[in-house]
Amino acid sequence: MNAYGKRIYEDVVVKNPDQVEFLQAVKEVLESLAPVLDRNARYEQHAILERMVIPERIIIFQVPWINQEGKVIVNKGYRVQFNSAIGPYKGGLRFHPSVNLSILKFLGFEQIFKNSLTTLPMGGAKGGSNFDPKGRSDIDVMRFCQSFMRELYRHVGPDCDVPAGDIGVGSREIGYLFGQYKRIVNAHEGVLTGKNMNWGGSLIRPQATGFGNVYFMREMLHTRGEDVAGKIAVVSGSGNVAQYTIKKVIELGGKVISVSDSSGSIIDQDGIDDEKLEFIMELKNVRRGRISEYAGKFKSAKYVAGQKPWQLVDKIDLALPSATQNELELDDIKYMVSKGCICVSEGANMPSTPAAVNYMLSNGILFGPGKAANAGGVATSGLEMSQNSLRMSWTAEEVDQKLQRIMTNIHKSCIEAADTYGFKGNYVAGANIAGFLKVADAMVDQGI
Ligand code: NDP
Repeated sequence: MNAYGKRIYEDVVVKNPDQVEFLQAVKEVLESLAPVLDRNARYEQHAILERMVIPERIIIFQVPWINQEGKVIVNKGYRVQFNSAIGPYKGGLRFHPSVNLSILKFLGFEQIFKNSLTTLPMGGAKGGSNFDPKGRSDIDVMRFCQSFMRELYRHVGPDCDVPAGDIGVGSREIGYLFGQYKRIVNAHEGVLTGKNMNWGGSLIRPQATGFGNVYFMREMLHTRGEDVAGKIAVVSGSGNVAQYTIKKVIELGGKVISVSDSSGSIIDQDGIDDEKLEFIMELKNVRRGRISEYAGKFKSAKYVAGQKPWQLVDKIDLALPSATQNELELDDIKYMVSKGCICVSEGANMPSTPAAVNYMLSNGILFGPGKAANAGGVATSGLEMSQNSLRMSWTAEEVDQKLQRIMTNIHKSCIEAADTYGFKGNYVAGANIAGFLKVADAMVDQGI
């Protein structure tokens, strides 16, 4: 870090001592920015870092609701509106028992740079609740979502803040949230993305994060004359991002040999084909069951309870972590590299620990940080916003082409920014710098 970055980081540590994930995200960005801050004194003069590390607004609210047994339950709701320099706040909602301010601030902070990288006009935000939809009936989920929106509606809107899904928030939850918003404000408008196709959603939005991550990985591989075809890939998670990551790897001729959930991992040496993927989608999206069922259905698979997939395989070329933060540690990457891994691309947000990232960067492993590699999701949310404003919808081919173009451009911006500031081949620094510059310049333009 340069002196300015260091001063700001130390201040953030003093003021947020318990926010481990937020500190991790801030540290990484400030380290990358050292040469940028050295060369551009005006960012310090305008106190850009001071303003960037504090959310413009945080809303915390109670979410009381009555479950189907008639019991009153109270959850905590959040919306962290981090930065609106380049567009309305935009970022997902996460419903998971682990949700707290540190996690939402790390996600909201990262979202600022990710959204900037897409080149679309979107500011950074994140929100959610410690509510756990897992194992809950549709009635319980609907009642919770309605209560959540009963407060959130006054803070969001198509030109102000447009939330989307994240862990625990899929099309069912978006539907209930949207229905309640519409009821309260009496307007059918684009306040959320990830909507169903027949009432304002965009084709390819469900696929976009996973597809985009594989497109990004393909770009990285091309820089070394490699391709996805013929490679063995390990994927974690079995939710939205994991499912469409698997689909695209298969389409491009790769072989995916793992999936997981928070209870354990499946290793299938024969590879996951379309039929097996369909089983996973029905299991996770419709029946909302556990991934262990896969091993009962397909004899080529084994299930390992309580473990992540990384160290359960004998041969691996590519890794696509697609579950949650800090799920890939130093030992995991060392093991995978010893088994042939050449490229890691993050579908999840911040899934690799700092030690794992440093190891990849110092050992020539191609590493696509989530901020760049999984930006296809929010980019397509941006395309959904455009279609809502235009009151029209584009075909799947049109959206997929735009998504591919966006991922190629993000890859190019990362490479160029890294080259310009002396971090050749380092996508972490490249993404942080390219994302930062646009937002910082907008903040300077708009005054204090
Ligand atoms: P889903 O809720 O659809 O799926 C999450 C998956 O991760 C599930 O398999 C879940 O297992 C597993 N998981 C969740 N928490 C943990 C944990 N603590 N330990 C182990 N496994 C866990 O979420 P998404 O697929 O949408 O999101 C996955 C990741 O991708 C997140 O990091 C998210 O922030 C990121 N992301 C998502 C985008 C999107 O468009 N959806 C966009 C950009 C990033 P289980 O079923 O047991 O809960």
